[in-house]
Amino acid sequence: MLDVLLHLQKVAPIKFEIVAVNMDQKQPGFPEHVLPVYLKELGIEYHIVEKDTYSVVKELIPEGKTTCSLCSRLRRGTLYTFADEIGATKMALGHHRDDIVETFFLNMFFNGSLKAMPPKLRADDGRNVVIRPLAYCNEKDIQAYADFKQFPIIPCNLCGSQENLQRQVVKDMLQEWEHKTPGRTESIFRSLQNVQPSQLADRNLFDFTSLKIDATAASRFVNVVNL
Ligand code: SF4
Repeated sequence: MLDVLLHLQKVAPIKFEIVAVNMDQKQPGFPEHVLPVYLKELGIEYHIVEKDTYSVVKELIPEGKTTCSLCSRLRRGTLYTFADEIGATKMALGHHRDDIVETFFLNMFFNGSLKAMPPKLRADDGRNVVIRPLAYCNEKDIQAYADFKQFPIIPCNLCGSQENLQRQVVKDMLQEWEHKTPGRTESIFRSLQNVQPSQLADRNLFDFTSLKIDATAASRFVNVVNL
């Protein structure tokens, strides 16, 4: 994502500054030297925010349970605060199309709600705007590009070994579908951009309970029947 933003900074018709931010969440074995070395080489402004969210997650989440939901909330809160401190007006996150589709199914399966992660979002506190520049890119392309450019990748060893992660289950499900029906993930993603509230069942979004018959259309229908 940083590579894409640096490119856009050169060619986009708008001006913006980039500050690279990474979090050191004090996970054991976190290779803390990798990103500073890389970012220093790029010659850009960067910050490594140190916050021991690892201990909080370990303390609150029972062994074997999924750590991501709490961990990501803690991380998001820290980043929001830091964005405020440095006066950033947008916070860019690296979620891609496949993350968005996976989140959509996770919310449907476990929260009973139709929601995913939008390409642009105003945070609940109203202070931060989140953008997802990779929202329309699929994971495979990003992976291939990252391999080609040999970007330093730091896997998460807090949850990376959790085989029962529901996100992984959903990912496997989507991959199996994609294998059997190529293009299905893209089709699902397209459907997230083509929502028809009147064809769903959320009465807050579309008040179908107050629907009334159109009197003119009804009389026309009666006339046709009478003919
Ligand atoms: S992948 Fe790792 S760092 Fe990311 S939310 Fe899950 S536990 Fe936290």
